[in-house]
Amino acid sequence: MNDYQINTKCVQAGYTPGNGEPRQIPIIQSTTFKYDTSEEMGKLFDLEASGYFYTRLQNPTNDYVAAKIAALEGGTAAMLTSSGQAANFYALFNICECGSHIVASSSIYGGTFNLISVTMAKMGISATFVSPDCSEEELNAAFRDNTRAVFGETIANPALTVLDIEKFARAAHSHGVPLIVDNTFPTPVNCRPIEWGADIVTHSTTKYMDGHGAAVGGCIVDGGKFDWMAHAHKYPGLCTPDESYHGVTYAEKFGKEGAFISKCTSQLMRDLGSIQSPQNAFILNLGLESLHVRMPRHVENGQAVAEFLANQPQVEYVSYPGLPSNPYYDLAQKYMGNGGCGVVSFCLKGGRIAAEKFLKNLKLAAIETHVADARTCCLNPATSTHRQMTEEQLLTAGVPAGLVRISCGLEDKNDLIADLKQALEAI
Ligand SMILES: *Cc1c(COP(=O)(O)O)cnc(C)c1O
Repeated sequence: MNDYQINTKCVQAGYTPGNGEPRQIPIIQSTTFKYDTSEEMGKLFDLEASGYFYTRLQNPTNDYVAAKIAALEGGTAAMLTSSGQAANFYALFNICECGSHIVASSSIYGGTFNLISVTMAKMGISATFVSPDCSEEELNAAFRDNTRAVFGETIANPALTVLDIEKFARAAHSHGVPLIVDNTFPTPVNCRPIEWGADIVTHSTTKYMDGHGAAVGGCIVDGGKFDWMAHAHKYPGLCTPDESYHGVTYAEKFGKEGAFISKCTSQLMRDLGSIQSPQNAFILNLGLESLHVRMPRHVENGQAVAEFLANQPQVEYVSYPGLPSNPYYDLAQKYMGNGGCGVVSFCLKGGRIAAEKFLKNLKLAAIETHVADARTCCLNPATSTHRQMTEEQLLTAGVPAGLVRISCGLEDKNDLIADLKQALEAI
């Protein structure tokens, strides 16, 4: 399957039925799995044989879908999680512990920012946030002896900044730590961070991968290139025997290709849960089967909407990395030659009141706290997610009162533009 184009992998990778077996991935709706002898089951617990015993750790439906995403990203192993939040937490916590430090881009999803800056801080894991636009000197200065991971988003939600993956990978590797990239917005159809030096890739599969607003989920993919043993003193969890798992040393037993995901499954899933339900994995796979067909349409609609908005008198500015005037245009061209995603943000003249009127008059675009769905949706942070803030606070947070985020769906772009046009005229 690895020799095929990504379009073919979207449709067929991960699951190859044998003679007389179901054509579609079966939903294995079972918490547990039956064995004839205790010896056979014992081998699974000792990680001596591979197989399933309890769905909190692993389920075949999930593994078929995870294998497809690994193939799409060009990784060696992958696992599904119950949400994108769980994916990012597990990816970081798999190699960080109390006393560790993370270097993260400051331009990331609000949920991930809270996870790192508040919740992981309570676990004794500290972080330094750097601007994605920082110089290599500033980036290198953020590292400490206890730094264990670097984190960023390919296209940040909602700021739409583009990560210079090679710059961040260079800094991470020169300090002997891996780069973790959340690739939710472009999806592997538009960018494959591992090809640019990222070591681990995460996803909120809730967004474009599902693409229909039907199933919350997440995924972690290992690129299989980071040499844990070469930095064994930093990663004792991977490079010394796990007493909670019969003394297995993951990096020795599973090598560079398998250690990260094996540890994450056998330790974190075992102890913390957060597995994706097989039903959701099935729904996710239906989305993946058309991801390569849908992403170009999301991009086409996003580009058309951004170009339209940029020429409207009611609009102060438009942020979309596909516009040549955008500061991230060159980076977007380099890492995402076929375009990034369908999310556009723009600022209306006339602040909160203009935004409220505009949203009220939209007919096709619904007001939702969601993005990356087949149906176009819009959000004005000032009157929803950030409504407790004053105009000044909004400005300092980089979300002026007139800011609107629009996630362009799969409708006809002319209908979308006509809808935006009449809503702008109604302000
Ligand atoms: C939505 C999102 C998340 C969180 O994912 P959930 O599936 O909602 O938990 C993480 N990262 C990015 C970039 C997102 O857009």
